[in-house]
Amino acid sequence: LSRLQAAEPEVQSFISVASESACAAARALDGRIASDGADSLGPLAAVPLGIKDTLCTAGLQTTAASRVLEGYTPSHDATSVARLKAAGGIIVGKCNCDAFAMGSTSESSAYKATRNPWDLERVPGGSSGGSAAAVAAGQCVATLGSDTGGSIRQPAHFCGVVGLKPTYGRVSRYGLIAYGSSLDCVGPLAGCVEDAALLLQTIAGRDQLDATSSHMPVPDFTQGLEEVERFASRPLEGKRIGIIRETIGEGVSPGVNAAFDRAAQHLATLGAEVHEVSLPTSGAGLPAYYVIAMSEASSNLSRYDGIRYGVRQEAANIRETYNTTRQEGLNAEVKRRILMGTYALSAGYYDAYYKRAQQVRTIVQQEMHKALLDFDALISPAAPTTAYKLGHVKDDPLEMYKGDIMTINVNLAGLPAISLPAGFEEGADGRRLPIGLQIIGKAFDEGEIIRIAHVFE
Ligand code: GLN
Repeated sequence: LSRLQAAEPEVQSFISVASESACAAARALDGRIASDGADSLGPLAAVPLGIKDTLCTAGLQTTAASRVLEGYTPSHDATSVARLKAAGGIIVGKCNCDAFAMGSTSESSAYKATRNPWDLERVPGGSSGGSAAAVAAGQCVATLGSDTGGSIRQPAHFCGVVGLKPTYGRVSRYGLIAYGSSLDCVGPLAGCVEDAALLLQTIAGRDQLDATSSHMPVPDFTQGLEEVERFASRPLEGKRIGIIRETIGEGVSPGVNAAFDRAAQHLATLGAEVHEVSLPTSGAGLPAYYVIAMSEASSNLSRYDGIRYGVRQEAANIRETYNTTRQEGLNAEVKRRILMGTYALSAGYYDAYYKRAQQVRTIVQQEMHKALLDFDALISPAAPTTAYKLGHVKDDPLEMYKGDIMTINVNLAGLPAISLPAGFEEGADGRRLPIGLQIIGKAFDEGEIIRIAHVFE
């Protein structure tokens, strides 16, 4: 906790720090050791963990970084959080993010702008920026984030950590504050692939409280990560890896392109067969994603009316109370998305926008599934550039949306993907900024991308 607090004034990764409950949890573990012995402890015993503030935590304020939820203290834990606790993990605090996970910089938080530990003048990415920065700054060992269109993988890339977005349905969304329900995934951010695998192992699997959580059995994701395999001379022999052609070259910064090339070559050196593969409709995914995500968000966010949760701006009548609460509680980016989503779902426009976006989604999905029949995994950079300067895209939503081009199709297709550190770009000031490699796998085959990523580390 003191290490967390020492970095906090500069990095500002946390909306709230849970000193008291963390110490109580640690004391409870001590008691367990005394009564039942150390062997009785779970695999995450005493590991300090941060939780994105879009995940509900019993007894700990949960705001989704929005003013409208200030002071909201859930009575229950999200299933993913409950499973971490059951494994012995200690929750040290709630990580900053963009309000309702809408954004790519964490600057749209109502509470603070988290800084990138590699360069405090830059953003940590988003929306799980606090979760990535906290790991990068050594404020805790690992964190949970949520990923609707890249919010785990892009901040992992910006902060030089590992971020894993599981297959849709692999991890329960119960207790995750909904953004785009058909896209939302909960997943880990950690300092290395093995830690991320262990966290995924802990939180994955069917949950009765989320009807969309899968019955697929959860394999041992840490299996096969032994040093032996890692040090074999050509551990990726026989693997076929596809470079998504549309994600390299134009529109990608020279440093990111160069690091990505080196990473692809390295995979070949380790024995993989690496080829380019074209996904011609990949450009259509971005607009389709924003129509779908905003439509679902406009519906999901209707519950913040000042009556049931968080802050209420009491007014003359119920309608005025709703209006003032939402007017004052929701920020500009959130309102923009509610307006656009409501528009896209309106009678008369539904076919032209929402339905069409769903059709595009199916095409993108089929194209990725087809490519994955030929390849064991697909790769791309995790984002087109390194971390933005603070304020750089804040007032330019379109520019910000375009930065999601590498990650959103994976959400549209529901596939698992991992982003892991794969080099640096040197800025004009001589500072190094991290770059992430994204490895995309077949549905429910997180094990494969974890093994490839681990060998690569
Ligand atoms: N940047 C994307 C958006 O704003 C993705 C966010 C996310 O994955 N939560 O929608």
